Amino acid sequence: MIQQYSPDLNKLYCQLAKTCPVQIFVSNPPPMGALIRAMAVYKKSEHVADVVRRCPHHERAPENNEGPAPPGHLIRVEGSQMAQYMEDGNTRRQSVLVPYESPQLGSECTTVLYNFMCNSSCMGGMNRRPILTIITLETKEGQLLGRRCFEVRVCACPGRDRKTEEENFHKQQEKGSSKSTGSNKRNIKEVNQSTPPSDNNKKTKSSSSAEEEIFTLQVRGRERFEMLKKINESLELKDLVPVADLEKYRQKLHTRSSSRREKDKEKEPKKGKKLLVKEEKTDSD
Ligand SMILES: [Zn+2]
Repeated sequence: MIQQYSPDLNKLYCQLAKTCPVQIFVSNPPPMGALIRAMAVYKKSEHVADVVRRCPHHERAPENNEGPAPPGHLIRVEGSQMAQYMEDGNTRRQSVLVPYESPQLGSECTTVLYNFMCNSSCMGGMNRRPILTIITLETKEGQLLGRRCFEVRVCACPGRDRKTEEENFHKQQEKGSSKSTGSNKRNIKEVNQSTPPSDNNKKTKSSSSAEEEIFTLQVRGRERFEMLKKINESLELKDLVPVADLEKYRQKLHTRSSSRREKDKEKEPKKGKKLLVKEEKTDSD
């Protein structure tokens, strides 16, 4: 089999212009005239605003452009006369719609055949940026009834790439479960999945496991990033200093600042770490 789906990664690996059957399950039959829409979006936040379309090369090449599908669309429906290709007037996002058909007798699901018309690596197109395909079930008035999405990689060797990526994923998972020393990306996921502990009634310093949890912060602008990095590094260093020595350092600081006079009345905030983290978060949101 050329096209491969990885349940672990929720990711489809396929070749350019090859048939990818997608099965649609519905719990209740949708109203008459319901439609199935497929749209591609970039997966990473830094690319998500860009519209996914085919690269200039594939858009202009004569091969794979014989049919009725507009040449700029990445996703096509195969084997349906009813496919409608849309481009949103405002967002310019492209999608393809087919009427929902109830499953064939003896079958539980409806199958739609999709084609992806560029490689993920295509220059001037996806340009190695990962994409998600969003499948929605809509009424003919456009009301959303259901939605699913999966990542797609269009490449020359789907089987090989799937194997490599799944192996990497499992390695990362093992690392992640033994100790939280992984990359930032995984930390974001971990944070999203675990519900944050309630900070309100946790004002003491010695809440060990919660303090070990690693958070990732997205900061706008290099200057602010450097600033927050410095603050974080200072806090990390402070954690390394034995409690007994802390008092000595404080006294040193105190004598230094009182000799300067102006900063004398400044009190050191006890839970500066907590407060800062909170402020940063609301700031970047
Ligand atoms: Zn292309």
